[in-house]
Amino acid sequence: MYKIIFSDFDGTLTYKESLSPVFFDLLSFLERRNIPLVIVTGRSLSWGHFLLTHFPYLKDIIVEGGGAIVSRRGSFITEECLVSQSDVLRLAEFSKELTKAFPQTKLSADSFGRKTDRAIELHDLQEGVLFEHIEEFMQNHQINFSTSNVHLNFWCGEVSKYLAVEHYLKRQLPVADECVFFGDSLNDQAMFKSFKNSVGVSNISTILDRLVYKPTTILQGEENIGPFGVLNYLKQKFP
Ligand SMILES: [Mg+2]
Repeated sequence: MYKIIFSDFDGTLTYKESLSPVFFDLLSFLERRNIPLVIVTGRSLSWGHFLLTHFPYLKDIIVEGGGAIVSRRGSFITEECLVSQSDVLRLAEFSKELTKAFPQTKLSADSFGRKTDRAIELHDLQEGVLFEHIEEFMQNHQINFSTSNVHLNFWCGEVSKYLAVEHYLKRQLPVADECVFFGDSLNDQAMFKSFKNSVGVSNISTILDRLVYKPTTILQGEENIGPFGVLNYLKQKFP
């Protein structure tokens, strides 16, 4: 039995870009077995608050690609920022420069609720010349970036889903080998690289050839898309 289930959110716990009944089935399945679920997502700090507020079973959410952890402690919600204050300020400055240099791009609507990273909607930025110019601009400014299913995220400093999970596990009893991670996208690579037990839900097939590090288990077939794959895998493992 895994001690903690870590999972990406978009495309892994959502289906067709929304929460579906299977997400609730998964929460009930874990609750009955008393296995904590920690979502590890590129979504914003404000999204972490939303998830904790609406899903009482969730106690900790790692957000912004590993930049911060939002936790429920009794009736309080606390935030732990894993990025230095100077990097937070540098990112704010860079974001202004970016939108000045590329006025045709705009920051994602949820950038308002972000602290340690910012995002550009991939919908607004089809891969092509503009995408490449923006990436080059970020590289020239020593800004790190990664793509999720929905965003091009960028940040200052050393941040990854894995570093945040490693930090999180230091304050927990279980060791990483007793946990599992589910994911589906390029921004899950740090986890696939360093985590012993990792599972890609079947929709990972669309980006599989772009992954340098792949999950140890890759699910196949329509029936294992996103949260269906997560639940099927856990049910098979823990009938
Ligand atoms: Mg994803």
